Amino acid sequence: MIDLHVHLDGSLTKEDLRYLATLNDLDASIVDTKPYAVSPNCHSLSEYLECFDFPVSLLQNVQSISYATYAVLKRFAGEGLLYVELRFAPQKHTRSGLSQEQVLLSAIQGMNLAKNECGIACKLLLCCMREDKEGSLNKETVALAAKYKDSGVAGIDLAGDESIAPNSAYKAVFDYANSLDVPFTMHAGENKDNADVWDAIKMGAKRIGGATNVLADPMLVEFLALTKIPLEMSITSELNTSVIESASASPIAKLVSRGVKVCICTNNTGVSSTTLTREYALIKEKLGLSSDVMKSFYFNSVDAAFLDSEQKAFLKELINKKLNEKEND
Ligand SMILES: [Zn+2]
Repeated sequence: MIDLHVHLDGSLTKEDLRYLATLNDLDASIVDTKPYAVSPNCHSLSEYLECFDFPVSLLQNVQSISYATYAVLKRFAGEGLLYVELRFAPQKHTRSGLSQEQVLLSAIQGMNLAKNECGIACKLLLCCMREDKEGSLNKETVALAAKYKDSGVAGIDLAGDESIAPNSAYKAVFDYANSLDVPFTMHAGENKDNADVWDAIKMGAKRIGGATNVLADPMLVEFLALTKIPLEMSITSELNTSVIESASASPIAKLVSRGVKVCICTNNTGVSSTTLTREYALIKEKLGLSSDVMKSFYFNSVDAAFLDSEQKAFLKELINKKLNEKEND
């Protein structure tokens, strides 16, 4: 399995946070007093968003960022993930004086440790933030992504509260990314606004994170199917934030039947208390998709990954091998 949409700060466990608290000279018991994961029946965006404050507050020094990256990737490797694009916003980790570059280097250090120890393949996606309306922090993030493109960075993303401004307000940042040949995915339409999805496409997004309401715009569905621009979808997280009312109300089955490429992702394994294995199982159980469609999700994620054709061919070979092993079991 491959996860192309998973946030570092939302994927920490209680145990990770306890260890990170001690790295920050805090008593580990502080974790019991702070929100970091939603209740199983959460349907509230505000409850969901609150869960990021505490983890981010702990990820403000080299050791913590490096450890968190390592711990999350080690867990994914243990689950059997073959490749991950792990995302975070360097600009959210500079409160104690680290530069965005130091933040990135800390994450690269943790990632390389996990790669060497667990054999997991991984790249980092650097999030630009909607909060940076003026754009200088986001442009710095884009420049970093370009600088470290051959040493661990896959590309960039746009994240943050969609109510701040439409995606089109960030055009200059993504024009800059295009000029530097930095590929990008973009959160869009999580608030059900399809204009944001169209804007992301026009700006050059190679993938879209969210886009849960595209069925309301048949022309958009047709366009996504024709261009094969994939959607990164995460059912549990969509349930937690009330984007969908129930797992069976997910648009995934209809999108697949109309030819849209969907990639199954987790978004935040810690905040949503989920795993990629669980997301696949949930989709299989609630949407009743055939095993061929379920298998196609693996390959959609390979095709959508920010990797070169040789790396993709290698991953497909690995997946086929694992599927054959499973069938012969
Ligand atoms: Zn996300």
